[in-house]
Amino acid sequence: MIKIAPSILSADFANLERDIRRISTADYVHVDVMDGLFVPNITIGIPVVAAIRPATDLPLDVHLMIDRPVRYVEQFCRAGADIVTVHVEADSQENTLRALDIIRGQGKRAGVVLKPATPAQAALPFLDRCGMVLVMTVEPGFGGQSFMADMMPKLAQLRAWIDERGLDCELEVDGGIDPVTARTAVENGAAVLVVKGGPGGEEQCVAGARPLEEVPDIEPGEVYLYGPGENTVYLKKDGSVEIRGSRVSVTGELSVDGQLTVNGRPYAPCDC
Ligand code: ZN
Repeated sequence: MIKIAPSILSADFANLERDIRRISTADYVHVDVMDGLFVPNITIGIPVVAAIRPATDLPLDVHLMIDRPVRYVEQFCRAGADIVTVHVEADSQENTLRALDIIRGQGKRAGVVLKPATPAQAALPFLDRCGMVLVMTVEPGFGGQSFMADMMPKLAQLRAWIDERGLDCELEVDGGIDPVTARTAVENGAAVLVVKGGPGGEEQCVAGARPLEEVPDIEPGEVYLYGPGENTVYLKKDGSVEIRGSRVSVTGELSVDGQLTVNGRPYAPCDC
């Protein structure tokens, strides 16, 4: 089962509680914390985590893009984080191990994050303490980047190590996830997808799904069925694909060769 973790960075911060309620059937609320040092941007911190904690029953998946996170992990746990991930690049190995132990000591799920330039091997010293490994598929700290497909070998390597060791460790990807890149990430071992908040709160979808004509790399076989301009494609948590539009609303299975199957039959536009 693929888990969906919408990022609150795409929420309206003046209406954060409303927007968090809109993603109530997602799996996690992904909270991107940036400190202006480890990454150039500044986002939110401990008081905001504490403020959103009562607004949702979902686990808070707190991604710390901060320098020397060992200084703050306990406070984030106490503020209500359920999962806390720290960048391996943000401190020494010794301090990163300490940060993971503090998080675990608070009864929370600890994890490490790898920036795009960081090899999979950098996670190895920490794997047995990790309940989560997060692979960045964009450079952290900047918006509007596209998915880095060249991270897929790293993702697949981490999936292999996690499985070989039988670890209770989730593998998450963050950055540039849309219905097309989501499939790529899942095929390479991702189990948790960080996505933008849903359009109108489209909970279980890979939210942030774009109209088909804005997905330049979608297979031709996936396009011809739906017509231009008015439909949106969503990859759902169960792996099925849903296409919604002004004339079409169907759910089916999309095969690798682009054929959509609805109720066991190849889908044709007249079906709707
Ligand atoms: Zn993140």
